[in-house]
Amino acid sequence: CSGSPLIHVNLPKRNICLVLPYSAPAPRLHVPESVLRMFKEQEEQEAPPDESEKHGGRLRTFPHERGNWATHVYMPYVAEEDFQGLLQALLCCARTYVPSLSPLPEFHISLSQVVVLRYHWIAPFVQSLKERLRSVSRFICRADQVKVYTNQTKTRTFLGLEVSSGYSKLSELVSEVDKVMEEFSLATFYKDPSFHLSLAWGLGDLSEALGGQRLQELQETVDGFEDSSSFLRIPGTEVRCKSGNKFFSFPLR
Ligand code: AMP
Repeated sequence: CSGSPLIHVNLPKRNICLVLPYSAPAPRLHVPESVLRMFKEQEEQEAPPDESEKHGGRLRTFPHERGNWATHVYMPYVAEEDFQGLLQALLCCARTYVPSLSPLPEFHISLSQVVVLRYHWIAPFVQSLKERLRSVSRFICRADQVKVYTNQTKTRTFLGLEVSSGYSKLSELVSEVDKVMEEFSLATFYKDPSFHLSLAWGLGDLSEALGGQRLQELQETVDGFEDSSSFLRIPGTEVRCKSGNKFFSFPLR
């Protein structure tokens, strides 16, 4: 205790008195840049906040927590002019029954549920997807059957085009993606998936409002749309994974 003042601590129950060395508080040290940068990296690990106004008030089905990254695996579809024309025709028809229906900003065929990854799992998760998907060969599928979907909590409804060909190749992709999900103890995809391109969405369960005769009418719009059989052929050349605001691409063989 060379020279430091001593403090006395009384432990009442046992009637013991300890004598401990006491040091005056040290002056505040300068924090090196490298240490300050460590905290910047920690901020980076925080998933971006859910700005629901940017996606039209759609609700998360799980609460946002620090360090949780919403992650989704899918096959992208690049919409050309003709497809946008068909989308407008379908919206025009569907809005006579559900005026609140909004077009989606981008199109894809989901190959996974939206799962939650911790930041440090993103890199190994992506690596595992890369290894499993690289041996799957390219293919073509067709999405031309109008169908209405709701999410599991029935808080959103989607007007979509279900695939009528390419089901086995899409199932092959899902089986690879599911293996990765299992490796990370995450939810696998639907056991009986209905592969589709979602085109538009609305809040709540709108399946009755868009069902029956109305669905038939929407199907006739697709069948009668010029050239739809050609632009609804979807090239399966790439799988993507979105985790928070990060995108990863996996080209197929
Ligand atoms: P997506 O456009 O892929 O996000 O799908 C729209 C919604 O369809 C999601 O909320 C899914 O949960 C829902 N969905 C309902 N049933 C199925 C199914 N059998 N296969 C795939 N997606 C489904």
